[in-house]
Amino acid sequence: MKQVATVCPYCGVGCQVKVNVQDDKIVSVNGANGPANEGRLCVKGRYGFDYSRHPNRLTRPLIRRKDAPPKSADLVVDPANPWNVFREATWDEALDYAGGSLKHIRDTCGPKSLAGFGCAKGSNEEAYLVQKLVRTGFGSNNVDHCTRLCHAGSVVALLQCLGSGAVSNPVRDVMESEVVLLVGSNPAINHPVAASWIKNAIDQHGTKLIIADPRLQDLSRRAFIHMQFEPDTDVALVNAMIYTIIDEGLINEEFIRNRTEGFEDLQRHIQAYSPEAMAPICGIPAETLKLAARTYATSKASMIIWGMGSSQSQHGSDNVRCIIALALLTGQIGRPGAGLHPIRGQNNVQGASDMGLLPSAYPDYKSVEDPAAQRKFEELWGCQKLDPKKGLTSMEIIDAAVDGRVKGIYIMGENPAMSDANAHHARAGLANLEHLVVQDIFLTESAYNADVVLPASVYWEKTGTFTNTDRIVQLGRQAVNPPGEVRQDLWIIQELARRMGLDWNYSGPADVFAEIRKAQANMAGITWQRLERESAVVWPCRKEGDPGDKITFVDAFPRSGGKGLFVPCEIVEPDERPDEEYPFVLLTGRVLEHWHTGVMTRRSRVLDAIEPDPVCHLCPQDLAALGIVAGDPVTLETRRNRITAYARADSKVARGNVFMPFCYYEAAVNLLTNPTLDPEAKIPSLKYCGVRVSAGGDPAGITGFGGIAKANREGVAV
Ligand code: SF4
Repeated sequence: MKQVATVCPYCGVGCQVKVNVQDDKIVSVNGANGPANEGRLCVKGRYGFDYSRHPNRLTRPLIRRKDAPPKSADLVVDPANPWNVFREATWDEALDYAGGSLKHIRDTCGPKSLAGFGCAKGSNEEAYLVQKLVRTGFGSNNVDHCTRLCHAGSVVALLQCLGSGAVSNPVRDVMESEVVLLVGSNPAINHPVAASWIKNAIDQHGTKLIIADPRLQDLSRRAFIHMQFEPDTDVALVNAMIYTIIDEGLINEEFIRNRTEGFEDLQRHIQAYSPEAMAPICGIPAETLKLAARTYATSKASMIIWGMGSSQSQHGSDNVRCIIALALLTGQIGRPGAGLHPIRGQNNVQGASDMGLLPSAYPDYKSVEDPAAQRKFEELWGCQKLDPKKGLTSMEIIDAAVDGRVKGIYIMGENPAMSDANAHHARAGLANLEHLVVQDIFLTESAYNADVVLPASVYWEKTGTFTNTDRIVQLGRQAVNPPGEVRQDLWIIQELARRMGLDWNYSGPADVFAEIRKAQANMAGITWQRLERESAVVWPCRKEGDPGDKITFVDAFPRSGGKGLFVPCEIVEPDERPDEEYPFVLLTGRVLEHWHTGVMTRRSRVLDAIEPDPVCHLCPQDLAALGIVAGDPVTLETRRNRITAYARADSKVARGNVFMPFCYYEAAVNLLTNPTLDPEAKIPSLKYCGVRVSAGGDPAGITGFGGIAKANREGVAV
């Protein structure tokens, strides 16, 4: 038995783990004493490891057969038996075909006819090389990743208002907070170890928890206030709090004078947003809104943690601008226990953004349209001329694939066929491509229409750095060897780059990391040797030997002039409301046991045994009114599509709402969701659209995917 110190591969909390390995096989995982977890783990971290040995694991490169059925948005390929669509190939044949075809498209149709998706589950080194491949090999900035679908709204607002897209304080700083305001976030499900620190703060220090979320949650029982507001009314709710803070003189005048700009505009604008005027819109009584505002503003240290409930909206950046204004009005930022924390979803979504896996920014968030930044990266990368225009975002890439402007896509580890809003449209885009290369560990829904599938290494089979939600760069160490002919992702990216004509010769992750230090000023002081020694270093860390800054924005914000900016926001009508035909609101998210599109956790034996079947959650009163018995199949239908799932009675869900996780391929809820984008962040409205719920439906598509007793699905007594 050997024990390997590494990091959990799931959420952005970044818990350190010890992996117990026998005969090159992981047999168990324990919590380790990392800065984010101190030995704690949730069920995913503890039990979600054996997907790596699932029999459907890709172990050889695949090439689409000449006699395969036509590509189609509706094509389904059995991952256990894909042989009517794909044949096995050697690495040389697969890479030559993958790279050669992409190069041919670039040379005949132009650089902008190609695009690449990187992966927020991959390492910093992988993300860095993917964006560099697209910029220097494909020849454009058409590169993006799933931060577009989670915190793009937050990043746009944070960059505009504070000059930095990262968190100001680590999650564990809640232990220093008198008040924690949780907006659109359900950490007990999505970031359980983060939730455990909030529970400790409440139990040990009497911290007051205020939650604003349309669904009740496990933490609600410990909350001082839970504002179960109407979905998609965040701006009304937070503006009412801003109004109260200004109206009752609870502002921090000195902080506003010295550290901010734009207060007068906000003060004028907010007059229309009194709690009395907003109460009927957001569904929260005016007195409750005032109490929440007073409690937040008058504490010695208040922290705001928000999640995708705020950002995954066509108003995502406005929602977050309002949240930021709360902190700037009261000076609740830049101190222990006082700050702003957009809690990150994937294990390396912070790092992937830091590495420039974005169509608008190079590493270190330098704009691709800034000539000085272009010159810097042309010099660093030894290339002639980088594309001076922003590229397409992930949903725009799909639109361009549908209408033929983009003809070739390289997907490294993402699954837009499941994660994009209106996923049938994404599937149609992928099916319409001349050439699609997918690099992944299983034959994902996005790979059904691939021309080449490259079998990738899982997290446990490689070494690299990962940046958690607290900005802590941690070393993930290889625990086991890849099976079959699987190669490590860095090798695959580099070989593909060579086929595109790039002369790359990185010897391994440490070599790539050395280049990252030159590209990302905030990480310039972090050495590979220090990571090997200490396992975790927080950025900013600009010089070797710096301890790194756990808390940022202490004296100034990294905007020109150093001041934070108030940006007043109005209520904007959503493009789709529930109506007579589609009377319920559809909310989407996760369940505790399953991660994202379910590719890993649904192939983890313990996790799948606990939560095997697709379920949608409705409150018992709505189920009764619809004549639906918990555990029976129901059909959910929106203006875009329909799916069938099992009904679960869940009194945490408000009347008139339906909650559905997006991890079930047999009932993919993103076939239903609304693709309308936030105009600046380009994040879709994944958490709000009208839906019709009806009893029955075809259960054929959902039975047999777990085969547990119906009783296990009826669950959830509250
Ligand atoms: Fe892994 Fe997140 Fe759970 Fe920690 S809280 S064990 S990082 S999934």
